[in-house]
Amino acid sequence: MNTIPQSLTRTPKIDWNLSQNGMTWYYLYCANCGKDEGRVLKTSLPSDFAFALCTECSETYPLDGTYLEPDHGYWDTVINEQMETYGRMLTPEEQAEVLKEGTAPLAKLARDFPDFTKLKGI
Ligand SMILES: [Zn+2]
Repeated sequence: MNTIPQSLTRTPKIDWNLSQNGMTWYYLYCANCGKDEGRVLKTSLPSDFAFALCTECSETYPLDGTYLEPDHGYWDTVINEQMETYGRMLTPEEQAEVLKEGTAPLAKLARDFPDFTKLKGI
């Protein structure tokens, strides 16, 4: 399944004219053509991820149920790995043990945690 492309720049670009009182606003761009799509508040973002399309691209961009948010896809993989290997979700203490041991597939997944700042930016 395809992941949704990022609409923030690799290093999110801050709008210093809007950002004040502890709030940070990032520039948001059309994920398809790169057109300026306004600003998005940093505190409302999971993992500094945002997606936007301009009006023109929204008419042609294929979104019909075939896309996943990048971190959503990652967490599905983490959950599936625990269900396959252990038959259930591990407790936080058990997860810590697995990560400390470092050889289980779950530990590899943790090491591979996606760095969304390295996704193709605009
Ligand atoms: Zn566009």
